[in-house]
Amino acid sequence: MLEVLTAPADFFMDAGKRVYWLYLLSALVVASLAVSIQEGRFDPAGQVKKLFDRRYWFARSSIFDVYLMLINSIVKISLLMPLFGSHLAATILVGAFFQDTFGDAPQFELGWFWIGLLFSTVFFIIEDLSRFCLHFCMHRFDSLWFFHRTHHSATILTPLTLFRVHPIEHILYFARSLIVFGLVSGVFVWLFSQRLTGLQILGVDMFGFLFNFAAANLRHSHIWISFGRFEKIFISPAQHQLHHSVGNSNSNLGSVLSIWDGMLGTRLYARKKKLLEFGLGPNEQRRGEKKMPMERHTFFQSLTDTILAKKDCDGSSKGV
Ligand SMILES: [Zn+2]
Ligand SMILES: [Zn+2]
Repeated sequence: MLEVLTAPADFFMDAGKRVYWLYLLSALVVASLAVSIQEGRFDPAGQVKKLFDRRYWFARSSIFDVYLMLINSIVKISLLMPLFGSHLAATILVGAFFQDTFGDAPQFELGWFWIGLLFSTVFFIIEDLSRFCLHFCMHRFDSLWFFHRTHHSATILTPLTLFRVHPIEHILYFARSLIVFGLVSGVFVWLFSQRLTGLQILGVDMFGFLFNFAAANLRHSHIWISFGRFEKIFISPAQHQLHHSVGNSNSNLGSVLSIWDGMLGTRLYARKKKLLEFGLGPNEQRRGEKKMPMERHTFFQSLTDTILAKKDCDGSSKGV
């Protein structure tokens, strides 16, 4: 029971979580720099006053973020962990499956560093792509949008808005991470078991560390940071803020990489600072609003045609 109550506090002490104190600190430094550049002056007193504004942290929207953070912690500790076990169990299961099915893995002469780098890269790409796919489905299908709109109902964005997800969405993302981590690390343990254990591989998420350290917390904030031309590759905090804004929520569905959005034509560049209204628009509550802008793109034309054809049949545009 005590574990359930203290779990949210552990998020701030766990380097694997986005709200780890070091990442929050780096986000603060970047935010201060960005605001100073935008305002053309450095006003530390004014910035601190804004940071501790109780209208920001104690708004109804912000309190609801914390409430859902607690609920989802309870769901994870009392239901998901006992039911599915740890990610390490999935690694061992997949590794054993490959060993039983294919026997000994072919031998590669790769040093520690290269194995770590290869694992980090493969894991990062599959992790990011699977997040994009699930997020895409959340916006595309009515049944999933029903749950995902909880995240989009935030009218104020704080780093804790990350935890503002419906418990069903939390379970879906947990299952996704378990499958992705189990598959990728299981295959690596099978391939390199001579020099690698499941425990050692758990410590390697270099790109995740870099992403979080580079102020990922500002995605859920009101600090406008655009990456300029690099938004072709990476989603900037401003792009995710656009995703949360009324009228644009079918755009920028990616987490780290924006190339998936680029492929489906759902990428929206942030460019100059805009005044945004966050939350669900009047139509979004009823699941209407703009169609997903995928149909513009030729590369995935046949795929998107199929999806959109379904939409046209029932006469409604889904997901926002
Ligand atoms: Zn979304
Ligand atoms: Zn968000």
